[in-house]
Amino acid sequence: MAADILRLRRREVARLVGGFAVLPLLAEEAAAAAPITRVRPPGWYRTSLGDYELTVVSDGDLDVGEAAPLFPAHPKEDLVQLLENSFLDPKRTIFPQNCFVLNTGKEVILFDTGVGYTRPFGPKTGTLLANLAAAGIEPEQIDVVACSHGHIDHCWGIIGGDGKPNFPNAKVCISRADFEFWTDEKKIAGGGWIATFVEGARRNLLPVKDRIQFADDGVEIAPGIKAIATPGHTVGHTNFEIEVGNRTAMFIGDMAHHYILHMRRPLIEFAYDTNPKQSAQTRLAMLKRLAAERTIVLAYHFPFPGIGRVVAEGEAFAWVPHPWHLHGTGRFPRPVPIVYGRKRANRRQRRPGASSRAVVAHSPRAKVRRVNARHASPGRMPSRRAASRSAATASITSSASSTGAIAVR
Ligand SMILES: [Zn+2]
Repeated sequence: MAADILRLRRREVARLVGGFAVLPLLAEEAAAAAPITRVRPPGWYRTSLGDYELTVVSDGDLDVGEAAPLFPAHPKEDLVQLLENSFLDPKRTIFPQNCFVLNTGKEVILFDTGVGYTRPFGPKTGTLLANLAAAGIEPEQIDVVACSHGHIDHCWGIIGGDGKPNFPNAKVCISRADFEFWTDEKKIAGGGWIATFVEGARRNLLPVKDRIQFADDGVEIAPGIKAIATPGHTVGHTNFEIEVGNRTAMFIGDMAHHYILHMRRPLIEFAYDTNPKQSAQTRLAMLKRLAAERTIVLAYHFPFPGIGRVVAEGEAFAWVPHPWHLHGTGRFPRPVPIVYGRKRANRRQRRPGASSRAVVAHSPRAKVRRVNARHASPGRMPSRRAASRSAATASITSSASSTGAIAVR
């Protein structure tokens, strides 16, 4: 049958184009196999969170090898069984890195920044900037960088290879406890992985010290976005709670590393926890809360795009990923770059002879001062000028996005 159709097509085409040299070409085409491309598609996904727009941007997968050494205090047989029952290879653990970009219409907030330009986990990581570009988001548009903690895969993307901030207009939010712990030069003398972590944290956090807002427990880093202390994995590990309309979402950083192991056995201790026992208790308490409140969870190391919910199952939990919808537009999904509103400050910075006052007013340091002032007098309303300036920061694109995603409900 197929041969008949091919003969028919050849005859038709030959008739249409006069038959010159077409038949040998078609015969070759029919015999050729499609080449293996080995080209990775861009790693980003867009959906909406209430009235906000949420874009998940991958910094690549961390391929961290056998599971047993990562969870050394737990019986190996149980780890192997849990992973094999979920069709996962106990010899090869993959931790995706999902950086979340939340556009509230007034501010653009980036949660965690990946491993950065040094790529200590190999060349397939450190893809945040490339994937932001693929998603149509410019680094200059990020107003807030919120770091869950001071580890390699969360704060090493703050500074670029040129020594300058990757997000030049952003303030940086991290807990004071983690900032002080991971930038403490004295810890370098001890050597080992702690020294490596401290060197990297110093390289990324010290150059932006004057634009840091300490995100200690309860501090609002942007309207409706609050730091929640979740200590244990690090001394100042922080979740970020997002309130939008009647929805609540929680960015959990490294509060849980694995969507099977830490759900089925929440008390499993992780090798790189600063205080493993505290980390396990924090995780258990927070998982109970997330399950009870049916909170939308934004999980950094769970399978891309890391959006879902936690449900309680007896003493354990289960991860229920939110479906990845691509059909919202009714067309084949195509990731067309989204053009965000450019910030007024950037235009002034680029324009020769622009007022230096305007640049200062929009600088990250000024932004930190404004936010701190807001905390000092919570009842004070922003001036009309300030409100219109912040409204100009970014525009929200259609919730039925280029990827055709639908809202998280
Ligand atoms: Zn991590």
